[in-house]
Amino acid sequence: MPAVLDDTICAIATPPGEGGIGVVRVSGPGALDLAARVVSLRSRQSLHALPVRRLVSADVVVPSGESSPTDRGGATGVSQVIDEALVVVMRGPHSFTGEDVVEVQCHGGMVVLDHICRALLAAGCRLARPGEFTQRAFLNGRLDLAQAEAVLDTIRAKTARSLAVAQAQRRGVLSREIEELRSALVVALSHVEAALDFSDEDIAFVLPADLTKLLTDLSSQLGRLLRSSEEGRICREGALVAIVGRPNVGKSSLMNALLRQERAIVTPVPGTTRDLLEEVVQIGGIPVRLVDTAGIRATQDPVETEGIKRSRLAWGDADLALILLDGSELLTDDDRAVLASPEAFGALLVVNKRDLPQRLTLEEVRSACPACAGIVEISAKELAGLDHLRERVRDILTPHRLESAEGAMVTNLRHADALKRALEGIEQATQSVKQGRAGELVAMDLRIAADALGEITGVITTDEILQRIFAEFCIGK
Ligand code: GDP
Repeated sequence: MPAVLDDTICAIATPPGEGGIGVVRVSGPGALDLAARVVSLRSRQSLHALPVRRLVSADVVVPSGESSPTDRGGATGVSQVIDEALVVVMRGPHSFTGEDVVEVQCHGGMVVLDHICRALLAAGCRLARPGEFTQRAFLNGRLDLAQAEAVLDTIRAKTARSLAVAQAQRRGVLSREIEELRSALVVALSHVEAALDFSDEDIAFVLPADLTKLLTDLSSQLGRLLRSSEEGRICREGALVAIVGRPNVGKSSLMNALLRQERAIVTPVPGTTRDLLEEVVQIGGIPVRLVDTAGIRATQDPVETEGIKRSRLAWGDADLALILLDGSELLTDDDRAVLASPEAFGALLVVNKRDLPQRLTLEEVRSACPACAGIVEISAKELAGLDHLRERVRDILTPHRLESAEGAMVTNLRHADALKRALEGIEQATQSVKQGRAGELVAMDLRIAADALGEITGVITTDEILQRIFAEFCIGK
């Protein structure tokens, strides 16, 4: 997707479907001229004369029949008022995209929005590609790349916590830290390169001991950021938690109990739903996709076997499994088989039905699964022990409980990957310095590291990276 900024783009910015209001966005050098052909201000003013960021009433006027919106009032076209709207003008560079922007707020019906968009296209706008408004904000220097990605995270945030982390990144908390690290690297690199240029002369631009110390400091800061990335991913994307166990231990009852208390208002991301029952709940601020798997047991039935196969796949993918047991019964062979599975490593054992007389002792459970992460007793029926269960789940998924959302935190796989490459570069360079290798080698590794950090904020970027990032956005953002 080559970056073209000289045309004017438009798109419906609100989600498809019916809504109280709908918004059509126009951005680019011709935004005011082209929008003026579609909206007619009640005050009879021209859009150009409007004060910025002030909502004004307008009629949305599109020509009827085949006529173009430009010949409104002309011989062929009788223009037709299709809706009443509020219009706002923002002038570049002080707008989201950095360009002239017009937004039309009309009634949120698909036909109304569609008509307005079509009229704008007929007037000479081009339909925006997914994420193109945000991409323009990046290309016009309004946001760096990590901040642009945080716009998407803000839209997609599923809990207050993920929203706070996304907002911190959008404000530039991560970008500032990355840029500080990158400029320290660039300074180190310039010293090493100066030493190469003047290698005949007896000037020490940087002492190996000083360089080693600087690189060690940098690598420990990068390491800290990288360590935040697993929890960061869970905070941003949510975690997959599978409820597993033989039939009748209370898996569906537990799922319902958790949903009854903490059902998230949002639905799962499309495409993630399996055939298994899956719902999103909030656990300690983490969006959790909870999967109720089919009961796992030995069976000859082909349909049940297929269900069990899917359950095992979900279990394998899960960030955490809750292995459910029935405390009112002794362990069965099916229980033991589940507990002995390789996937049981790190699982949380949940002994259910503690409202009934107990036949299962915790010692027995513990010795049947020594590799599990712990045991919690609950009653799904009486909703007892669920707070403790939630606390344990939160502690296992986010053990470091990343202090505050205000600190820089890495939530994005692309950033984590770039950080890893930067860290490798610094470690290589440190080794080369220690072993007294040629300065060219040190410089090369430092450059790799600095460039990798530059990819995070977009100082260094390629069309391919941009395309991949903005394709994830919806049209109109
Ligand atoms: P699943 O097959 O593992 O999904 O188990 P269900 O959730 O369908 O529960 C099996 C049976 O156990 C049902 O009759 C539930 O009402 C019952 N049950 C589930 N949890 C509890 C509990 O905490 N206490 C008691 N007494 N019964 C429970």
